[in-house]
Amino acid sequence: MLPPSTMALVAPESRVPYPRRIFCNRNLRLDRIRHVGFDMDYTLAIYEETMEHLQAEMVLERLAERYGYPAAVLGVKYQPGFAIRGLAVDTAHGNVFKMDSHRFVGRVWHGAGPLDRESRKRIYTNRKLSPADPSIVMVDTIFSLPEISLYCQLVDLLEHGGEPRAHAPHANGAGDGMHVIAHADGSAPHVAQIHTDGRHVSYERLWRELREAMDELHRDGTLKARILADVPRYIQRDPNLAETLHRFRSSGKRLFLLTNSEPHYTEAVMRHLLHGEHHAYPTWNDYFDLAITSARKPMFFASEEPFREVKEDGTIGHEPVTALRRGVLYTGGNFQELSRLAGLIGDDVLYVGDHIYGDILRSKRSTSWRTAMVIPEMERELELTIKMATEIRELERLEEMAFQLELDRNALALDKIRNVELNAQLKELNVRAQALETTIANDFNPAWGQIFRDRAELSAFGAQVEDYACVYTSRVTNFRSYSPSFYFRSPRDRMAHEIAR
Ligand SMILES: [Mg+2]
Repeated sequence: MLPPSTMALVAPESRVPYPRRIFCNRNLRLDRIRHVGFDMDYTLAIYEETMEHLQAEMVLERLAERYGYPAAVLGVKYQPGFAIRGLAVDTAHGNVFKMDSHRFVGRVWHGAGPLDRESRKRIYTNRKLSPADPSIVMVDTIFSLPEISLYCQLVDLLEHGGEPRAHAPHANGAGDGMHVIAHADGSAPHVAQIHTDGRHVSYERLWRELREAMDELHRDGTLKARILADVPRYIQRDPNLAETLHRFRSSGKRLFLLTNSEPHYTEAVMRHLLHGEHHAYPTWNDYFDLAITSARKPMFFASEEPFREVKEDGTIGHEPVTALRRGVLYTGGNFQELSRLAGLIGDDVLYVGDHIYGDILRSKRSTSWRTAMVIPEMERELELTIKMATEIRELERLEEMAFQLELDRNALALDKIRNVELNAQLKELNVRAQALETTIANDFNPAWGQIFRDRAELSAFGAQVEDYACVYTSRVTNFRSYSPSFYFRSPRDRMAHEIAR
């Protein structure tokens, strides 16, 4: 009999707590994987909520100082937990919405609350959105979540004259030098104007400037400087990370780091995560056979950018490198060169990342790397799924009943029969399902509900995860609970007719 601690590590999947399991879309045999690559931000390094507050505070300051927004924006109190991944911004109308897997619009938010029924119907009913529509922006990185939240708050603020909601919404000149211009037909406000320099701030412009200001903060290093001044305040240190990496290595796998972050930032964050954590690895670099920074994913997968060496003094070598050495930090590079120099075949690589587009989708499309997607939000979602199990089952039962009744009603309608009782029954079922759905959604996220679902459908984000990630899980260290030769099997490796047999 194994001691309990060892048992937990080699236990079959059912012994792994549900929120810590690794879920499989496409069969993956870990014993066939020889190289495991990791993204850093939000994959190895999980940021604290303090990071979102810092981003919000800095971007609002910048909007006021450099973009001419009124001082009232500094009073916006950031709401963490409002936005989820997979939301889209309609920059033409100032709305934020969630889509299902067929790209139909679900919940819509405008300013401080849900968009009114009529506008919602007018703008989105029966409209399938095209990814090519320039006024629709999909938000798929965790880094961008504060922007969504702030956008809604700023729309509200600008529409209401920079004053609290108690003000009459259409009172021109109210508040801090702003006023609101209504639609030509007198309906909901369309643009806000800032009096001081007479600029018009349309919904589109507000989004563009918010994005620009946030990008600047990332690009010019001011945000990172604040994080580096107090890394433990902003980045969690998962006590199981060293052990997880060590287990991969002990089973003969080679590890590499592939991050878009710059060398000095990477160095500081990785040191925080791993330094002194395991006696066999004196420095963080000892865990990895290769460490690549400023990789510019997703371009990395298609570019011809050479690798360059980061020198001891932090400067970057001019000469493109012709061999990749352990213990050296590199910048740039590209997928072809990496495969050639490091001897990666393709499907012997598992790449672990959190960004659906930069890490997962592009590597899946341009390479034969296998992918593991880290979705930190899942931990809480899965805990809630357990807590709400009875309600969720009841909702599924009601939805199934309603679906069957609707089929009956449609069949009767073909024969021009109108069954009053059936209609009443259906109506009652829908009301109950709706109420229950709201109760459940409120526990997950009052504005958006569950991350992977949009009512009865898969959400657009859920569909992307299903399409592109071979496996997905809430954190990298969940791999620690699985044998390094585990065979992840997808429930989808059978077709419907095979299952129904
Ligand atoms: Mg990342």
